[in-house]
Amino acid sequence: MLKHEPNQQRIASLVRELLIELGEDPDREGLVKTPDRVAKAMTYLTQGYRQTPQEVLNGAIFESTANNMVIVRDIEIYSLCEHHLLPFYGRCHIGYIANGKVVGLSKVARIVDCFARRLQIQERLTEDIAHAIQEITGAEGVGVVMNCAHLCMMMRGVEKQNAVTVTSSVLGSFRDDAGVRAEFMSLVR
Ligand code: ZN
Repeated sequence: MLKHEPNQQRIASLVRELLIELGEDPDREGLVKTPDRVAKAMTYLTQGYRQTPQEVLNGAIFESTANNMVIVRDIEIYSLCEHHLLPFYGRCHIGYIANGKVVGLSKVARIVDCFARRLQIQERLTEDIAHAIQEITGAEGVGVVMNCAHLCMMMRGVEKQNAVTVTSSVLGSFRDDAGVRAEFMSLVR
């Protein structure tokens, strides 16, 4: 994992070159600070490379004797597609059946961000989250469903403004037990 902070000056100078190549004047008033702003924004949007799920969890894992399905719905997702560096965004629903341990609810969203703030494809993001929840909780099953709109499809290419990509990842009993999977899918729909 990349632990060091990206070099802000180097990113800014690359963005300045990019602006020139695109036919812009990087010295005009509106663009003077743009390279620095982009460097800051890109560093923020990729901070997940410098985090681990364990760090963001920060010990917020609790004993639980309950053996029910825990569902966290409608977690907002903002990520960048690794093919075009354009955003994709939407919602993610997570379910798991605890095996003695549950995660603090607010931490679930932090774990999602830890993976969303990297260059991603939606399929891998979905799996990264499922595996992290599985690893952290030792759950007997995990399911993740994600619905996202991709700006690289909406603004360019096929220009499908209303296309939403749905991905899912199921592990353990969510994969092996059709009844468990059906319960999860009905609860997040
Ligand atoms: Zn893309």
